[in-house]
Amino acid sequence: MIVVMRKNATEENIDAVIKRLAEYGLKGHLSAGEERIIIGVVGAAIPPTLRGELDYFEGVQQAVPISRPYKLASREFHPYDTVVKVGELEIGGGRCVVMAGPCAVESEEQIMTTARIVREAGASMLRGGAFKPRSSPYTFRGLGEQGLKLLAQARDETGLPIITEVMTPTDVELVARYADVLQIGARNMQNYQLLEEAGRSGRPVMLKRGLSATFEEWLLSAEYIIAQGNPDVILCERGIRTFETATRNTMDINAVALAKRRTHLPVIIDPSHGTGKWYLVPPLALAGIAAGADGAIIEVHPDPDRAKSDGSQSLTPENFAVLMSQLAAVAQAVGRLVA
Ligand code: PEP
Ligand code: MN
Repeated sequence: MIVVMRKNATEENIDAVIKRLAEYGLKGHLSAGEERIIIGVVGAAIPPTLRGELDYFEGVQQAVPISRPYKLASREFHPYDTVVKVGELEIGGGRCVVMAGPCAVESEEQIMTTARIVREAGASMLRGGAFKPRSSPYTFRGLGEQGLKLLAQARDETGLPIITEVMTPTDVELVARYADVLQIGARNMQNYQLLEEAGRSGRPVMLKRGLSATFEEWLLSAEYIIAQGNPDVILCERGIRTFETATRNTMDINAVALAKRRTHLPVIIDPSHGTGKWYLVPPLALAGIAAGADGAIIEVHPDPDRAKSDGSQSLTPENFAVLMSQLAAVAQAVGRLVA
């Protein structure tokens, strides 16, 4: 349920509503915009009589039930776009943000070179995995904390904030010490303890959609993070598993446009994992931005043929530079700019 307050509602009016909610063991989340103030109601059991009761409170315009199972993530609760701040950078603020870098941090030379290249081409964040979830235990699984240190070194030199994956609840504190944004990988989208720990980390969290997760399950996972008091959640559509085997995954562009409608959270697309093929990355990146995504995360490697992971879907520096100029043109065509 949401409680829509009148324009002239006073602070006492709002407090009275929140107090009554508390009497029922419910929490009131305030969302104040220029046009109106909304109090979102969350709790396990909302009494059926509450809505009628609140309708008579002073300052209340109306109490409206919410049909969706996710609340804090929904646009009904929070009509205004959430803008996630990462230092000076704004994600979801109307400009498209490009995060780029290798799938995995492999060496000092590799990450420093890539960081310089993507910055030069106009990326505004550096990506790179230090803890890698791999389908096979015999493949390269990342440098661990050494990888985080190298990412921090690349940030120091280039000024690019860094995003990197955290795989377990016990690693959240460590990864949050280095990363500007925590990435929750597709395989961990429903690791609820990890989501809650990330929600308490004090860092923005980018939540990738699970390989076989429905739109609603994805949003409910975002709800876990926000419910811990962390409003800085970024959604990432990275392709889902379908009957199609010609590509690694099926990029669900529908989900991008739908997420912009149903939620207030920024949405990033990942055409690298979404397609699995480097030559499909540019067209799908452009499609995602045209569909309303707030940015893209792109795998770039100085020498994709020698990459320790995901080389087949990584762009060369040259192809990435071309894509950046195309992205700027598409963003402009749909009334936005690249950050
Ligand atoms: C990655 O970003 O390199 C990654 C492992 O992504 P996903 O969790 O989407 O597979
Ligand atoms: Mn990867």
